Amino acid sequence: MKGENKLLQLTKKLLNEQYGINDKIFNIIMDAEKDVKNQFENIDEIREYNQFKVLQAFRNNHISDAHFHNTTGYGYDDLGRDALDRVFAEIFNAEDALVRANIISGTHALSLALYGVLRPGDTLLAVTGKPYDTLDDVIGISDKANDAGSLKDLGVNYKQVDLKDGLEVDFDALKLALTPDVKVAMIQKSKGYAWRSSLSTENIKEIISFIKSINKDIICFVDNCYGEFIEPLEPTSVGADLVAGSLIKNAGGGIAPTGGYIAGKSKYIEKVAYRLTVPGIGKEAGCNLGVIRLLYQGLFFAPHVSAESVKGAILTARVFEKLGFEVCPASSDKRMDIIQSIKFNDPEKLIAFCQGIQSGSPVDSHVEPQPWDMPGYNDQVIMAAGTFVQGASIELSADAPIRPPYIAYLQGGLNYDHVKIGLMIALQKMVDRRILNV
Ligand SMILES: *Cc1c(COP(=O)(O)O)cnc(C)c1O
Repeated sequence: MKGENKLLQLTKKLLNEQYGINDKIFNIIMDAEKDVKNQFENIDEIREYNQFKVLQAFRNNHISDAHFHNTTGYGYDDLGRDALDRVFAEIFNAEDALVRANIISGTHALSLALYGVLRPGDTLLAVTGKPYDTLDDVIGISDKANDAGSLKDLGVNYKQVDLKDGLEVDFDALKLALTPDVKVAMIQKSKGYAWRSSLSTENIKEIISFIKSINKDIICFVDNCYGEFIEPLEPTSVGADLVAGSLIKNAGGGIAPTGGYIAGKSKYIEKVAYRLTVPGIGKEAGCNLGVIRLLYQGLFFAPHVSAESVKGAILTARVFEKLGFEVCPASSDKRMDIIQSIKFNDPEKLIAFCQGIQSGSPVDSHVEPQPWDMPGYNDQVIMAAGTFVQGASIELSADAPIRPPYIAYLQGGLNYDHVKIGLMIALQKMVDRRILNV
């Protein structure tokens, strides 16, 4: 115990001398950590369960060095590509999966799924309110010109069931909205840029059962971005026909350099693959250009890294609760994704916080992010992402659209310690700018 205390004093001294962290900030973080430590056990249990599941899928599919080889050109008989699809499918309890480095982002993965299964005259129904901002132009609901091949441009209709009081699924309105033209019901697990709790797998199960009880043929599609490996089961284990997500979020474990995945029923994955490549070829071609090992290795790390991120998010929630800010979810709430929202009610505080997170990053700590017009977003956005993989939000990052009430969305952290130090640096920056009193 004595030795530990000595080391703690040394850390405190180092943080003070090298990072300019004062004792008050240090103590706030340490006290907050004490408050939430008992919750970490539950997260460890989920992490272990998910790690066993991932390991088992590797073992069952006899993954070996041969799967990591580079392929070029058409990529016919790319063993690694085909086996990675099977490994993902097994982990997600799905019939099939499509996991590719040339799926450039989560938005691309989600779009592939939508374009893959929707046809002119069909209706896409958003069940959990307006989908994530970057899908506006895909669906065709932004005010931009609409001849770009959005779903709307191609004759796919769109309807949305708003959340009741902005918080939960409105089952009465959903029932009315489930007209015969609805082909796809889209459910967003994570709250994205909204102030509500994210959906649990249990919630998703309930929503899907409800939809299927009205029309079993509706394709239930879950935007699973940020949700992977946070709970023991993925949405495909509770009835989802399709799920999609990004490999520079949870499912890539901080190691995948790019990529996305879609998992679900074979008949739909086939159509989605036809959209990624071309009808007739689908999943059968596409070389891996040598990055495939990183997709495997990242997947193997994913349960662990996702758990570290969640612990960081819980710590963040507790710290800001102590400082008197509103947070969502609260530090004691069950976690369904890795996002922590903090309401700053003040653009200066929001910007300082994001800049502080950036300056506590291993990469580009010396640059100061500014709000900018990011492609795909309709408000200015500030993004702190001092990450090894550009924009990877499984790494510690904070972003925020610059609009009232000035909410920062913090997520990621390859390891918990980094989140802890990053928080100290961000708070110190706010104190130094005299916009935070501690
Ligand atoms: C991040 C995210 C997306 C979009 O993913 P990108 O990789 O940024 O394109 C979509 N939906 C949700 C809920 C997300 O969190």
